[in-house]
Formats: sequence, C-alpha cells, structure tokens
Amino acid sequence: MAGSSFPDFVEHVSLIDHHVHGAFHADGGEARFQNSLNEGNTESLTKPEDTYSTQLGIAIRCWCSGILDLPRHASAAEYWSRRSELGELEVSRRMTRAAGVSDWLIDTGLDTADYLGPAGMADVSGGRTHEIVRLEVVAEQLIQKIANPADYVEEFGQRLQNLALSAVGFKTVLAYRAGFDQNLSRPAPAAVTESARRWQENLGTGTIAKLTDVTLMAHGIHTAVSMKLPLQFHVGFGDRDLDLHKTNPLYLLDFLRSAEVRDTPIMLLHCYPFEREAGYLAHAFENVYIDVGLAVNFTGSRSRNLVARSFELAPFTKVLYSSDAFGPAELHYLGARLWRNAIAKVVGGWIDDDDWSEADARRIVQLIAHENARRVYALP
Ligand SMILES: [Zn+2]
Repeated sequence: MAGSSFPDFVEHVSLIDHHVHGAFHADGGEARFQNSLNEGNTESLTKPEDTYSTQLGIAIRCWCSGILDLPRHASAAEYWSRRSELGELEVSRRMTRAAGVSDWLIDTGLDTADYLGPAGMADVSGGRTHEIVRLEVVAEQLIQKIANPADYVEEFGQRLQNLALSAVGFKTVLAYRAGFDQNLSRPAPAAVTESARRWQENLGTGTIAKLTDVTLMAHGIHTAVSMKLPLQFHVGFGDRDLDLHKTNPLYLLDFLRSAEVRDTPIMLLHCYPFEREAGYLAHAFENVYIDVGLAVNFTGSRSRNLVARSFELAPFTKVLYSSDAFGPAELHYLGARLWRNAIAKVVGGWIDDDDWSEADARRIVQLIAHENARRVYALP
C-alpha cells in the first residue's frame, strides 16, 4: 500500500462499522424499499416514490447501480427491476461485501424477523459481527419477569454483567424516550425500586412494556457506566418520535462532568445536526467519541461537508466510522462509499494544498477507519 496513491489508499482502507443494524434478507415490495429511504417519518409514506427524489435516492442510483451491474445513474425503474431480479439476499450479499467492512458492531435492540441478526450478517457479508446491547430492551424484558420490584436493581445489574461477557458495548435510546434535558445523576436504589414498582403496576393494565421512566433509564446508564464498556448514545437525527431539539448533546454536560462517568467511553452516535456540538464534547472530555453515521447516507453528495465537519474540534483519536444502516443493504454499502469519497476529496484536498502531509493523512484515516474502534471496543 506504501506505493499507492492517497485515493487508492482511501479506497482500500478497511473499515469497522461501529454502529449498524441488520440488512433485509427476505424479498419485499418497492414501497418497503422506498419507505426505508426515509428516516424521520414513522408512518408509511403516501407518496413513497418521493424518496427517489432526495440526496439519498440519487446517491443510491449513482453509487449502488454498479454493484447490481447497472450503469451509473440508472433510472429508478431500471434499478428496482434489477434489484427485484437479484432478490434481497443477493443484494445484501453484494452490497455488504463491497463495503470493505471487516467488523460490524450490531445494535440488536431493533431486531425483528425482517432483518438479519449478527450471525446472518456475518454469513452474508463475510465479515465479523459483534453485539451492542440496548439497555432499555434489557429493562423491558426484566420488568415482565421479576416477581418483586425490590429485586430490580440486583437483577438488572446481574443481567448486564452476563451480557457484558459477550457484548462489546451498550447503547441507550434515552434521546427517543425522554430527551437529554433530564436529571441523569445516579438514582438511589429506593427510587429505582419505586419506579420499577410503578412501571410494573401499569403493565398490569395491559400497556406495552416501553421504558420511558427517567429514573430507570438513568439507573440503566449508570449501571452500564460502572462496567466500563463503551456506552453509545443515540444523538440527533432519528425518527420524529424523538424531540430533536432535546437531543442536543450539550444537554449531557452535567452527566459528562460527573466523576463516575470519566473512565467510560461515551460514544455519541450520528450527531447530525449537532455534529459540531458533539465535536466540542469530544474535544472537552477525554472519554467522548463521535461519528456522523446515518446522516452520511441521507445527505448524499452533501455528505463530504458533513464528514469535513467531523474533522474540526474532535481529536482524530476520538472519531469513528459508522453507517447506521438498517434494512436495504444499499445503506450498508453507501455509508462506506460516501465516507471514502468524502475523505478522498476533503483530506486529499488538504494534502494537495500542503496543509497536511500525506503521512499524517494516512495515519489519521486509519485511526478513524478502524484503529479507534478496535482500541475502544477492545476488538480482537
Ligand atoms: Zn442506529
């Protein structure tokens, strides 16, 4: 690789996708595909074909057509026809293999029968997979099992300990369930028991066991923090169930300042449109890390500006790659494709201007592509 050009180097650098979900495996209709290209709307779109007229829709026809043996910028009709002919599993196989990803860190909190789990993703992609455990799912399973809410604290801790034996990290969706403008200090055990009791009482009335209680979420977060495995926070852009304005990571300042959090890696996921705020936090706190996944795909040809913004305040030892792909495997490939394009253009431009030496550029690209993730998650 030493003799290769910088664009060649970027093209072939191996990636670790540190936040991703399973790809589709079973065939589905065009509306499923089109709806999967919208992140924010939680309902089926009345005009799903509109998702083809977005940065993401155009980027797919530009960059993914070749993987399906079509010319670049194939029409939407040609694209869908070829995709259907190959079948979902073959599309998933081609796209994940073309991504150049060695390891996928899979958030299994959204698992349903439609998506490949860690074993299926390893099979299809030929890469390694690792599990990230969603704290709220652990709590939701536990509350339906325990006979006595007084056992909640003990049992929750035990479950996380067991899961930590095989998982490489934890994740919280506090952003979705309550927002960050909350008291996230460690709750007293008595308060946790009381919240668990109230939650369990409500379950009796037939409500779904969806955790929204801040005390229990803060308890989950602090229990995970005490285990020192990386803890991922969903930040920013997501579906409209979350109050986007309350997912500004600056609301986490008090939490990050607390001494007990200092030794646990806090991974701020996606961050858009707060990537600059997140970059500041990575600069100000040694245990904070960021990525700009998800929005890389959704901003298409504008993603090079987004990736460039992830190269501002955050130390490069604290920036990671992710796609946050979910469903159509075009997203698993495109995240990597657009990230490589952005790096070649943005960092390549700094080399051309002699702002950066090529040696520095190669070293830093390797950090972000895989070395930071391998180190922080202690991957083999
Ligand atoms: Zn995600």
